[in-house]
Amino acid sequence: MRPLSDQSPETLRASLAVLQERYAVLKGRGLKLDMTRGKPAPEQLDLSEGLLALPGNRDHFTEAGEDARNYGGIQGLAEVRRLFSGVLGAPPEQIAVGNNSSLALMHDCLVYALLKGVPGGAGPWSREGEIRFLCPVPGYDRHFALCETYGIIMERVPMTPDGPDMGAVEDRVRDPRVKGMWCVPQYSNPGGETYADDTVERLAGMRTGAPDFRLFWDNAYALHHLTEHRPVLRNVLEAAAAAGQPERPFVFASTSKVTLAGAGLAFFAASPANLRWYLANVGKRSIGPDKLNQLRHARFLAQEGALDRLMESHRRLLAPKFKAVTDTLERHLAGTGAARWTIPQGGYFILLEVPEGCASRVVELAAGCGLAMTPAGATHPYGRDPQDRTLRLAPSYPSLAEVEAAAEVIALCTLLAATEARIRQAR
Ligand code: PMP
Repeated sequence: MRPLSDQSPETLRASLAVLQERYAVLKGRGLKLDMTRGKPAPEQLDLSEGLLALPGNRDHFTEAGEDARNYGGIQGLAEVRRLFSGVLGAPPEQIAVGNNSSLALMHDCLVYALLKGVPGGAGPWSREGEIRFLCPVPGYDRHFALCETYGIIMERVPMTPDGPDMGAVEDRVRDPRVKGMWCVPQYSNPGGETYADDTVERLAGMRTGAPDFRLFWDNAYALHHLTEHRPVLRNVLEAAAAAGQPERPFVFASTSKVTLAGAGLAFFAASPANLRWYLANVGKRSIGPDKLNQLRHARFLAQEGALDRLMESHRRLLAPKFKAVTDTLERHLAGTGAARWTIPQGGYFILLEVPEGCASRVVELAAGCGLAMTPAGATHPYGRDPQDRTLRLAPSYPSLAEVEAAAEVIALCTLLAATEARIRQAR
């Protein structure tokens, strides 16, 4: 198709009329679709149905001979820490297993830092006046919400295909008010980028104004490949230790999108000093985690290769949904100049970039057809995308047929919004 920018006002108006007719037809179908969040689909949860029968009758003793039904064991089961040691890139003794949400661990670490400070720091961050976090943009809305709710100023840094723009990061971290940075280093939410080795090394070793600066390293998608291609992320704990900054990374991950999103396991991994700090704080918060769920996971994933097989089953369910979206966008939008989109190698999202000023209109038009999309702006700090052009598509939850229908709606609404905008500009 010819780019919209090459079309005459008459052609554009004629196309708009056709698009509006198609929109009316779609609207009449009474669809009710939800692409707002990266939730696993029911069939993905079914893959871990076996967990519900575990650990099984009278099976409640851990490898260390502790009764998993009782209080205690604040660091989590050794067998689980061993199982996930490779994924986290840390020895089992530098790992803690939490309950079901890594976001909760990030929240808690942030709050402990605000109220008590972190190893190597001069005290509670909250006593230092204004503090700041670097936020690669586009990024994950719940990271931004944590900063916003605790009054931490967010500074945007642009993303590149290799991760955050390191020139901008190195420049900004010289400011001692910058205490931390959000990173989703593999299959980033929402752009799908995996940080290059050089990016990880620069983040690990850069000079920071704050002596107690922390990378909040949210490796949520470490295992979530969509293709045969398997990038190997540079180990940030090793890179930081080698650069003389062992305390810099706080590593987080979870099995939310491996086993059960609402009943998985979350992990924290860090240097020995950070781990002691974390356990001292968490030991005040709780007498111990849900060790039965840990035991259940240890049993479920005990067989050699079980984790890889499980992730391969997820991939088989997810990859066709992603392909349905990108194929549909390609079919309707290629050559129009109305959008650019990612073809992710992993993770849970497709990033769709529409012409400036059109993202909210696309969401509004889609809602009119019964499709709920992530609100425009959600990928930016404070929910504000100054150019109003970034959209996050989350194709995991709806069925394949629903995803196909949703992709048609998105493609049509994008073209419609872009054509409207072009007509306005041509006036
Ligand atoms: N981090 C990122 C980057 C995510 O995309 C998500 C889920 N959307 C989470 C964390 C949430 O993780 P959890 O379920 O472990 O709290």
